[in-house]
Amino acid sequence: MARRITIQCPECGAAIEVDVEQGTAAHAGQRAAAKDIDLSQASDWLRGEANRRDQNFERARQAERDKAARLGRKFEEGLRQAKEQPPTRPLRDLDLD
Ligand SMILES: [Zn+2]
Repeated sequence: MARRITIQCPECGAAIEVDVEQGTAAHAGQRAAAKDIDLSQASDWLRGEANRRDQNFERARQAERDKAARLGRKFEEGLRQAKEQPPTRPLRDLDLD
């Protein structure tokens, strides 16, 4: 038994019959006239999506930069401490009489 659902076409507003099993869709009725479509809302939404994507990308990049900077500082700090604190055991201890 074919499972069909009817949805509204986001482009023209006409009914679309979707065959869930076949994965196909087709306009069930007449396409609405193009002048009936309000594309401004769609383009507003698309613009918003693009902005959100850019912001997420920028946040991720900033987080990576912060992490790299933190690791760099840690490394330099370790290097500095290693220089300031020479091995506590003097080499002399190793000398054999
Ligand atoms: Zn359509």
